[in-house]
This record gives sequence, C-alpha cells and structure tokens, in this order.
Amino acid sequence: MKVVKFGGSSVSNAEQIKKITDIIEADNERSVIVVSAPGKRFSGDEKVTDLLIKLGDSIHGSSFDRNVYDQVLNRFRSNVNELGLREEVFTAVQTKIDEAMILIKEGVPYGMDALKSCGEDGSALVISAYLTFRNQKASYVNPRDAGIIVRNQLGGALVHEESFERLYQLRERDGILVIPGFFGFTPNGQLVTFSRGGSDITGAIVAAGVKADLYENFTDVDSVYCVNPNIVDNPKQLTSLTYREMRELSYAGFSVFHDEALIPAFREKIPVCIKNTNNPEAPGTMIVSEQPDREGHVVGIASDHGFLNIYVSKFLMNREIGFGRRLLQILEDEEVSFEHAPSGIDDMSVILRDYQLPKEKEEVVVKRIKDELDVDMVLIERDMAMIMIVGEGMNQAVGLASQAATAFKDAGVNIEMINQGSSEVSMMFGVKSESLTAAVQALYKNFFE
Ligand code: ASP
Repeated sequence: MKVVKFGGSSVSNAEQIKKITDIIEADNERSVIVVSAPGKRFSGDEKVTDLLIKLGDSIHGSSFDRNVYDQVLNRFRSNVNELGLREEVFTAVQTKIDEAMILIKEGVPYGMDALKSCGEDGSALVISAYLTFRNQKASYVNPRDAGIIVRNQLGGALVHEESFERLYQLRERDGILVIPGFFGFTPNGQLVTFSRGGSDITGAIVAAGVKADLYENFTDVDSVYCVNPNIVDNPKQLTSLTYREMRELSYAGFSVFHDEALIPAFREKIPVCIKNTNNPEAPGTMIVSEQPDREGHVVGIASDHGFLNIYVSKFLMNREIGFGRRLLQILEDEEVSFEHAPSGIDDMSVILRDYQLPKEKEEVVVKRIKDELDVDMVLIERDMAMIMIVGEGMNQAVGLASQAATAFKDAGVNIEMINQGSSEVSMMFGVKSESLTAAVQALYKNFFE
C-alpha cells in the first residue's frame, strides 16, 4: 500500500489534475492520496492558500474583498468545468468557503484556520469526484473522519499520538481514498491547520498511520539537489538520503520537503520517495533510514537567510553557575524561541530566526540581559545566514572542517560562527547574509566538483 501526496503545483489546474490521475491509475497500490491546495500555475500566479488568507484578512463585519473571493472561486470553477464534473462539486467547495467566512465574521477563533483549509479541502473534493468520473472507486475522506487528531499550538497544529491507531483503520476501506492535507481536528472538534507547507505533514502522518510500504511525495522537481539550484547551476541530483540528512537539509532551507514531515515516517521506518508529477518516470530521490555504504562524505549543502545572533560576553562566565539558564529564561519569558546556542569561556551566542525578535522586543531583551546578567557586552547582529554541510558519518571523517574552511577562505568569506553541535550529521557555519551565495558556491566547488 502506498500513500501518495501531491503538492500545490501538481494540482494547480485541470491539466495537472489529469496528470496526477494518470499517476494514481498507473499503480493500484496508490490507494491513499493526500492533496495540497491548488498552487501557482505560472510564475507570478498566486497560491489558493495565499488568496484564502487575503480573503480572511479582508473580512470586517459583513464586508469582504469580493475580487479575492471571486479569484478563489474561479480557480475551483475552472477545474470543475474543464474536468467535466457536475455543478454540485463546485457548490460543495463554495459552501465550505462561505461557512468558514461566516465563522470569521462571527469572530470564532479558529475561523481563519477553517478558511485556510478550504484550499486542500476543495482539491480533495474535486480530485475524488474526477477519479469517480474516470470510473475509479474513490471517495473523499475528511481528516476528522480519517482520525487526524491534533493539538492547537502556536505556529501550527501538532499531531496527537492517538491519530496513528485511528488512521490504521483506513486500511479496512475500499477504493482510493482522497484526504485533504494541511489540517486536523482537536479532540473537541476544532479545525486547526499545520504550519505552512503542512500537507507534507499530513502525508507523513497518514503514511505512518496506515503503515504504508512507501510514502510518495510528488512535487515539481525530478529529484532533490545537493544544493539550492538557484545558487549553483545544474547541481548534482541525489538518488538517496537518510531521514536525518533530509531533516537537516530541509531545516536549513531545502524547500522540497517540510522539515517536520519526516518524523512520523521515520518512526515507522517508511521509505519516502520524492518524485516529479511532470516527469513521473524519473526515479526521484529515496529517503531511507540507513545508508550502509556511506563513508562520511558531504551529501548536501543547505543555506538560509533570516537569522540573528545575540552575542553576550562576560568575563568568567564559565564559572558563573546558571548563567546560560538565566539568559535563556529571559528569552522564554519574552516568548522568543532560539535555534542554536554555541558558547565559549567568556561568551555565548544565541542564534534565532530574525522574525522572533522584532525591534520592540529587541529593546526589552537587551535591557533585561544588561540589567539582570550584568554582562560586559551584548550585541545584536542581524542579517545573518546559516550554511550547513550535511552527511551521515561526518563526525568520523577527518579533515572536513578544514576542507570547508578552505572553501570559505577561497571565497573571501569570514566565518562568524561554527557549530558542529551534538548532531553527528551536520556542521553549521554562520556568515553575513551578503556572503551567502559566494560561500555556498565555493563549498559546492570544494566538495562536489
Ligand atoms: N496549502 C498549504 C500552504 O500553502 C499547505 C501545503 O501546500 O502544503 O502552505
């Protein structure tokens, strides 16, 4: 049994929906389908999820942006018409959108989540109807009915353990099941969406729940590249990766796969295959638990902008019990989440995503650090980028750090921070944002050419 997830570009219009239907029909093990909301049809187009957010934001009392409302409806209207489906299919989608808009109008706290979910919900309604139209035995399955139970967390839903057992029951059902991605329900019936890009999470949860033999994730690239192809021309393609490598790479900017989505698949040891809807014959990239023939070399380079560093220095910090805890406590009190915290004898850096510390919060945090920790210096450095080299068994390989350092030297880039941390599969470098491209290109040359 295979669970197959199709991303936004794979369901963006009727032509794409025909392609995914061919893919589903080509293999009768593809029996559980998870779909995203219609994505961009061409560059400059808008994703339906973005339109729904715009629509939700425009609702004030009984007024709303009718132009955006029409744009959303037209996306579904044209799919229904071009696929030759009945009017009822469109009406079902429209009814859900209208109901969610009423929730927002009434000020129901999860109204926005309900509206955001309409993109994937509409996709699932249209695609299940189209499969039926093509004489397949197919049905739409709502995440509540499928058993996707979640907790409502700031930043997106988190799955409840009990979901997995419930999802296992889907194995009893006949025919092709089409489940909308991106949302679940709390135990008291409230709809909550995952973080952006979260249909991947649904796919992985469902694959783990039904104990699939394979989780196929269809997107619009032939395979995962070892580095961002917008930075390096024609980079090497990866035929396989381990879960840990993929998790590290997607955390630091690989946008092919949601970084949270691997955990459920990993725990059940379900292999994941990333494939291209526009070229389904290409083998894609396999993500597996073990890579027996890896000899500790670098398999990928990831990079991401948008970090900042809180640099704190205090003489004899290493002898002050509780310093680190008190520093992090200030961040906790101010509801700031951090990513890394490398430290030295007399200093400590805390690396955050930039958006965690807007200017007003920065003032409060800096003042508290000065007042409460009596430090010699506190500095906020914005415009930082992180670069990560990733590879299973790297901790055993001799000379990788020097090879990376040579690349940075060749590119004339100053390394602001190095963190090998406790992870055994990656090494992270902090650089100024403006040096990111040159540094990544130099690393690629050094490790892959
Ligand atoms: N439609 C949602 C988003 O754009 C989820 C997804 O596509 O995975 O974030």
